[in-house]
This record gives sequence, C-alpha cells and structure tokens, in this order.
Amino acid sequence: MLVFDIDGVIRDLTGAMCQKHNLPTPQVWYYYHDGLSYMDYLRKDRSIYLTAQPTEYFQVIKQIIVECLSVDVPVELWTHQTDHNFCALTRDWVAQHLPICNGLIKFKTGDEKIDSLSVNDLLVEDNPTLKSFDNVVLIDRIYNQSVVCSRVKSPQELKRYIADYLMLKYGFKLKGC
Ligand SMILES: [Mg+2]
Repeated sequence: MLVFDIDGVIRDLTGAMCQKHNLPTPQVWYYYHDGLSYMDYLRKDRSIYLTAQPTEYFQVIKQIIVECLSVDVPVELWTHQTDHNFCALTRDWVAQHLPICNGLIKFKTGDEKIDSLSVNDLLVEDNPTLKSFDNVVLIDRIYNQSVVCSRVKSPQELKRYIADYLMLKYGFKLKGC
C-alpha cells in the first residue's frame, strides 16, 4: 500500500499559518514564536485548514494516486490531527482538492503510522520525529534535515522514487517513468 501524510506533503498548512499571522517560516519541527507554539497558532484561526494551498508536490501526488487507484493499487492518506474539528476540516479540504481520496483518510499519530506499516508499504512523510524510518520516504524540508533516511528533494524525485516502488512491489509502471 502507498500512503501519504497530508500536512507538509499534500497541504501547505504551515505556509497558510505563516501568511495568516505574518510569521517567519519554521526552521525546526518544534516551532515557537513570540511565546506561542505551532499548535497555538493553528488554533488561533482554524479557517486555514480549509484555505491552505496544496504543496508543490500535490500535482505529482494526485497524478500518482489517480493512476494507482485505476489499477487497484491501494492508496491511503494518514494524518495526525489533534482534535476532531481539525479532522472534519481536513476531510473537507481533501474533498475540495482531492475528492478521489474521500474515504481513504485515516487519522493516526506518528507512532500509530509506524506501527501500522507493513513491509510492502511505503509512507511519504515530512515528520522527522517518527520512531522508525523503515518504509518511509521523507519530503526534504528545512525542519527534517537531522534525519538520515530515504529522502526526495523535488516532485520529480518523488515520482521517480514511487515509480521504482510500484514496479518492485506491484509490477506496475507509472506513466512517463
Ligand atoms: Mg506532515
């Protein structure tokens, strides 16, 4: 199964938060600014959960998901949201931007994600605090530089990485790869 995290991978929640509150871009995972944490800023204005733009990886990921589902390669979106309001808003964001994934969203903590992965799965993530990076590929972000693991630095690199995974595990060739 191919699994995508949502925030930092598909949805640019951080960019929306920084724009909304005129904040500097977070350079670290545990972000504080003027005494407030990342989560404090997110809770200040929940509308950004709906208005956040897709990331630069979105179009490539969308194309991959469409192709995978067309040949019954299983795909899911796994996201950690800290309360049910964020879960509902995240479902709405996906319904707006990636409706093919309605019904494929699961809410899991980082630990739950790792515990749920099987040897044939691939998880696309940006979180540097996971307890294992087996079966994980990280989207390269300034806040996850400390982790040594599989990593991609552009949408084209991600497409190539996933194409190799799909060929190896499913014998399935992505278009254009
Ligand atoms: Mg994330």
